[in-house]
Amino acid sequence: MRLLTFFGLLYLVAAVKCCDDSQQSTSKLRRSDSQAPIGSHPTIPVGKGDRFQGGRIIPRGLGTRLNGTSFNLHSSLNRKEIESALKGLAKEYGFETFTAPYQTYNGVSVGGGKIGGGCPDAYRIFFTAQIHAQERGAADNLLYFISDLLYAREHGTGLTYGPRTYTHKDVLKVLSTGIVFIPLVNPDGFEWDVQNNVCWRKNRNPVSSIPGNPRSIGVDLNRNYDFLWDFPNKFSHEVQKTNPLALASNDPASPAFHGLSPFSEPETRNVKWIMDTYRKVRWYMDIHSNLGSVLYSWGDARNQVTRPSMNFRNPTYNSVRGDLALDAYREYISPSDLKTVRAVTRKTVEGMVATHSRNYTAEQAVGLYPTSGSGDDYSFSRSQVNPRLNKVYGFTMEFGFHNYHDPSGCTWYPTVEEYHKSVAEVGAGLMEYLLAVTEFGFGDPVSRPCGFHGGLRHRVQAWKLRVKDYLGDLKIKVSGSRLSKIRLFLRGGF
Ligand SMILES: [Zn+2]
Repeated sequence: MRLLTFFGLLYLVAAVKCCDDSQQSTSKLRRSDSQAPIGSHPTIPVGKGDRFQGGRIIPRGLGTRLNGTSFNLHSSLNRKEIESALKGLAKEYGFETFTAPYQTYNGVSVGGGKIGGGCPDAYRIFFTAQIHAQERGAADNLLYFISDLLYAREHGTGLTYGPRTYTHKDVLKVLSTGIVFIPLVNPDGFEWDVQNNVCWRKNRNPVSSIPGNPRSIGVDLNRNYDFLWDFPNKFSHEVQKTNPLALASNDPASPAFHGLSPFSEPETRNVKWIMDTYRKVRWYMDIHSNLGSVLYSWGDARNQVTRPSMNFRNPTYNSVRGDLALDAYREYISPSDLKTVRAVTRKTVEGMVATHSRNYTAEQAVGLYPTSGSGDDYSFSRSQVNPRLNKVYGFTMEFGFHNYHDPSGCTWYPTVEEYHKSVAEVGAGLMEYLLAVTEFGFGDPVSRPCGFHGGLRHRVQAWKLRVKDYLGDLKIKVSGSRLSKIRLFLRGGF
């Protein structure tokens, strides 16, 4: 979530609802009663208990259900359900899960999964969600999309999101890329927000907290990455004055507090660990809400393609970096990279728009103001800082639009309608994203699937799919003349 909007709304919330404990408990009470519709735009409640029963019930998204089928996603997922969903999907479809190495402040292990690809080095795509705690539905959307892909693979079907359809072959194509994903990057912040309904953005690390100020707990994880993290020295003083909160903050009470050092937080170290471990990851998407946009690099300044020396590593520009009005600094991106990221962003947005005709936009991440320490920029900067590392194109998806009807004033808590729409929009957006990146490639040939994990059934299924895929390819490739040659060959004519 971009912070200009964030703070505008936060102040609006503050104006109508103060943040002392009594008011927070009022909000909590209202939330726990929120199973009942509020006006004509009820906020979707967070689920209670575990609808997936520890993994015994398998999640299924909207993309594999018949178009027009009424399916009521009556509540969003709580933390336990996110964990159970991952567990159930892994068991049902036979993929590997992992536990990232760094536990959160509250001692929670962060889990993820790896689907498609099949070879140890074949993971080219990385998805994360829910780094910002209050952006409800982010983890859900990713998990339902993964569910769709796996269900379609298993049952030989395609996917449908509104009027947009994808074939079974499309599903196999995107799965062949190999996807690593973490649905819940920030479990501590998420849990706190679900329990208290305080529109919480950060994690819950109290290391810099100020006694008596509960808002000073936590770090904004999307300002904690090692990309121009040291904003007081790396950005113009002007931008620090005009956008003191959006850029990043040294104030622990700020929602944009960037922590004590780059990667001071276990949650961001977990994301880095994936990029370090799966070194062929080429495409990274971080899923946020709710600006109705998809963002491409860079986020610190406007792009330029003519002066490679004008870049984030060059201290000459520290005094002017980020000052969009002065425009004395723009961040370098090669013309081919710019063309690539724009095209992929545009395709992703097309998928999201097609689903419900809502006005999603493709934008450069800098938008109206610069940011420091964000994950998408960090991913894209890695190979420039260390040329031995793989190039990673980083994107941010801002699904959905503000909910101005929530009684607590938190616009990130989606309405029932908003939640349903987003599940489909994110599904179509991610399908288009994956299909687009297969066109742009991975820097080297993608390995064919090496077999799925999870027992004989899945191995047999994998072989069947491969044969089917091969026959499908053959059918397309065989033109009239080739067909004649094959017939000739079969008749022993060669
Ligand atoms: Zn966000």
